[in-house]
Amino acid sequence: MSLRHLVTGGAGFVGSHLVDRLMAAGDEVICLDNYFTGRKANIARWIGHPRFELIRHDVTEPIRLEVDRIWHLACPASPVHYQFNPIKTAKTSFLGTYNMLGLARRVGARLLLASTSEVYGDPEVHPQPESYRGCVNTIGIRSCYDEGKRIAETLCFDYRRMHGTEVRVARIFNTYGPRMLPNDGRVVSNFIVQALRGEPLTLYGDGSQTRSFCYVDDLVEGLIRLMNCDQTGPINLGNPGEFTIRELAELIRGQINPGLELVQRPLPQDDPLQRQPVIDLARAVLGWEPQIPLAQGLQPTIAHFRDELAA
Ligand code: NAD
Ligand code: UDP
Repeated sequence: MSLRHLVTGGAGFVGSHLVDRLMAAGDEVICLDNYFTGRKANIARWIGHPRFELIRHDVTEPIRLEVDRIWHLACPASPVHYQFNPIKTAKTSFLGTYNMLGLARRVGARLLLASTSEVYGDPEVHPQPESYRGCVNTIGIRSCYDEGKRIAETLCFDYRRMHGTEVRVARIFNTYGPRMLPNDGRVVSNFIVQALRGEPLTLYGDGSQTRSFCYVDDLVEGLIRLMNCDQTGPINLGNPGEFTIRELAELIRGQINPGLELVQRPLPQDDPLQRQPVIDLARAVLGWEPQIPLAQGLQPTIAHFRDELAA
């Protein structure tokens, strides 16, 4: 029997790839989005399909729908976008998750929360296992997002304890791939767009801070396995390959235009120094690990941005 899925944030970067997978599996999909950072073009191929519905809605408002699975991704993910209106970001995380858990409880649906490695803040433990409780500034410019996701996780577990709601929590590490917006502001999109335009690549700080980059197809596979397994989570989903931001810049420059300059810009407040997932739990419980190394995943991502800039 086919399932009916609700994907909040389904017109966004990760959400639209997830919609593609669920549609390909023959299920029904309701894509819900307010188009803050998402766009119809990402799911345009499904508009008019009998198993697909598109709803313009803001998750800070309640909604009534009959669904079996809720993939709760709605929330801006790039610092540039989530800091644009930080109060709205906190509302989206808290009220949005509250409303979706209320819906899950009412209709008996299983809810997967797209949480984040940001719950670990600027980590004092490296790499980060799920048991690490994090080092998050409650009052900084990243707090609307980091603390928003932390309270969203809390709500999930309280709904589970109080009402028996079935929840799954994925702690997603930096993910990249086609359909990121050219003005997304995250590092992979910034560097690729700069390199394609023949501009210098902007290192914030000295570029010695690290991140671990997961290709979007790998992430979506992990999300699907998590939704379908018996483990509530939280489970880290990310690629354990760790790179300095300078190494990333050199890699991208090398694939596009090796002659470009790297320039330094001020490091934003509370920018985490290092980040790398421990994925032992995902390996053991989901039988999952990323298959696509960074150098390989950059190729379709660069091709996507070439098309975007040409359009
Ligand atoms: P994105 O910005 O491309 O997608 C977010 C989507 O949510 C967009 O389509 C946006 O329009 C929609 N949205 C935002 N606020 C909304 C609201 N109030 N109501 C309805 N829709 C709303 O970001 P993404 O990279 O696809 O991230 C998806 C999810 O995964 C987010 O919850 C994010 O926190 C989480 N995540 C992503 C990453 C990553 O590296 N991509 C890492 C950790 C966690
Ligand atoms: N960064 C950078 N240049 C840019 C954009 C980002 O050096 O043009 C750095 C940023 O300071 C951070 C890292 O790249 O240390 C990852 O930034 P991103 O915004 O992609 O994600 P997050 O900080 O949320 O992990």
